Amino acid sequence: MVEHVVVIGAGVYGAAVTASLTRRGARVTVVDAGAPASGTSGATFSWTNSCGKQPRIYHDLSVASMRAHRRLAAEVPFSDWYHEGGNLEWADDDEREELRKKVAGVLDYGYEARWLSRAEALSLEPDLDPAALPADGIAYFPREGWIDPTRLIGHLLSSAVSRGAELVRDDPVTGLESAAGLVRAVRLASGRQLAADAVVNCAGPQAAGIAEFAGLVLPMRNTRGVLIHTSPVAVSVSRVIHAPHVHLRPDGAGRLLLHSPETDGAAYVTATGEVGVERSAVTGVLEAASALYPGIRAAAVEGVRVGERPIPGDGLPVLGRAVELPNFHFAVSHSGATLSVHAGDLVAAEVLGEDLGEALAAFRFERF
Ligand SMILES: Cc1cc2nc3c(=O)[nH]c(=O)nc-3n(C[C@H](O)[C@H](O)[C@H](O)COP(=O)(O)OP(=O)(O)OC[C@H]3O[C@@H](n4cnc5c(N)ncnc54)[C@H](O)[C@@H]3O)c2cc1C
Repeated sequence: MVEHVVVIGAGVYGAAVTASLTRRGARVTVVDAGAPASGTSGATFSWTNSCGKQPRIYHDLSVASMRAHRRLAAEVPFSDWYHEGGNLEWADDDEREELRKKVAGVLDYGYEARWLSRAEALSLEPDLDPAALPADGIAYFPREGWIDPTRLIGHLLSSAVSRGAELVRDDPVTGLESAAGLVRAVRLASGRQLAADAVVNCAGPQAAGIAEFAGLVLPMRNTRGVLIHTSPVAVSVSRVIHAPHVHLRPDGAGRLLLHSPETDGAAYVTATGEVGVERSAVTGVLEAASALYPGIRAAAVEGVRVGERPIPGDGLPVLGRAVELPNFHFAVSHSGATLSVHAGDLVAAEVLGEDLGEALAAFRFERF
């Protein structure tokens, strides 16, 4: 019987798995090498979507995950982490056909999407420069939005701690003890050893290292992304915007979060391990955002963060128990801001003995 579960990592996945396990009555210790939300979940664009996710089973998991966010936010008073304002997306001439195909594909799956004219987009985002928009062909996905992962993690962990979970911070996992085909204990850098009936690997970009402690090889192809946080600025940006050279969304208290895939390559790591970003790339993204919303010219860059996307080898989530080591479980994926509340709940159910055979079949570790 599973009495004590050790969850490794306190990002969105670790927090979601821990909250679900405690809701289901388990005793949980969640361990992080640093502070909760100090990993990728603290440096992410966190757009909630299933926009172009393939194959169909991954799309469906993402849609169910969007519903789970909506449900959780409706249940919890002051759930200020959840913002379902929709997403506007348009493309340059050379990308327009790809956007058209994406919209046709999601409509075919029954996902909400529609085409807007410039005037309709301006009625949603009146501070956009009309000259920056095409006359039509602007895709609108009304059920998408964004979350504030740090606030979500704070809520999930505090509700878990109030149900008896222990949160261990600043104490990296350094090894696992296994015997007779099961994990028996988790070793921490402090020297503490946690006896475990089950272990859940929620270590995000470091998940391969934790799997290695269990003798399992998890292929990962992580990538870095650059996120630019502006100062508060009195510009009406009310939703997620995907324009040709810049993506942006509100970031709370008048701040905006900017990202451009074209700038991700400007992140570098020095010989001493410090992560930096070329200054010209940051200026370029701010200029691209100002070209869309002229009012952004009044904003300064308050912070630049580099996040590491935890991407399993084939791009799909890795969820559920390892057949070879049946009390060792995975909750690892890109798009974790979208997926974690729902996928973490499925993983927690399986940890405690529910049969999730069909729901998790496409996402099992064994496919590698
Ligand atoms: C630039 C960028 C943009 C993104 N945009 C989106 C988006 O728009 N929508 C979306 O849904 N997703 C997006 N993502 C992905 C999403 O942010 C991640 O999938 C998600 O945050 C991963 O959460 P996690 O809990 O798995 O990992 P993390 O948040 O990294 O948490 C893992 C935790 O494990 C801890 N840990 C690691 N090793 C150990 C150890 N040995 N012992 C103890 N603890 C350990 C770390 O300290 C960390 O706190 C984006 C990511 C990036 C980088």
